[in-house]
Amino acid sequence: MTDTSRKNQKHKTAMEKQKVVVDARIEQASDERGVAVLLTGNGKGKSSSAFGMVLRALGYGQKVGVVQFIKGQQLSGEEIFLRDQLPQVAFFQMGTGFTWDTQDRSADITAAEKTWAFAESLLRDPAFDLVVLDELTYMLAYSYLDETKVIDAITTRPREQSVVVTGRGGGSALREVMDTVAEVKDIKHAFAAGIKARKGVDY
Ligand code: ATP
Ligand code: MG
Repeated sequence: MTDTSRKNQKHKTAMEKQKVVVDARIEQASDERGVAVLLTGNGKGKSSSAFGMVLRALGYGQKVGVVQFIKGQQLSGEEIFLRDQLPQVAFFQMGTGFTWDTQDRSADITAAEKTWAFAESLLRDPAFDLVVLDELTYMLAYSYLDETKVIDAITTRPREQSVVVTGRGGGSALREVMDTVAEVKDIKHAFAAGIKARKGVDY
């Protein structure tokens, strides 16, 4: 047996073993319902992952809602696309108020509550298959929104509806009620090396 054919055989055996394990897991997963996903951590990729799920859902003709809890200084590609080219997606962005250099806490809270009211209407509507709550965690971290109220809305949403929450932190109570919690770890970021934020990549 040559070295290559030995490697190929080893790979085949490993794959077969893995298939047995994966098939058994698929067999075991019998609960069919919407999932609650939290994407957190300090690395890049939380919001863009959420928008990846938006694409997936749209591919199946599902009904999608996107709520952004932070108005960036910078317009983003996803915002432009949602507003101008995807009228079928319900989109709401916290227009005024909270930014990183905010000075006016009470105006922020008003804006956060108005944005939350829209989010809550989606979380009550069984017509929506997927609801993205982008940067929601900061509203909890700053106590702009009541955590119990947010968790209640997430846990009592329609059974078939999935929800994706993004943002650093998130708190243990939120993590507890989410089905999938993934943390994006920061290994390095171009920005730290002095590379400017890039259109289509960073915003
Ligand atoms: P993205 O929208 O690219 O998926 P994100 O949602 O994980 O990023 P946010 O904290 O919401 O991260 O920040 C969004 C912006 O900040 C993006 O332009 C992103 O490239 C940048 N960013 C994210 N993580 C880091 C980091 N660790 N250092 C510097 N900039 C970052
Ligand atoms: Mg983000």
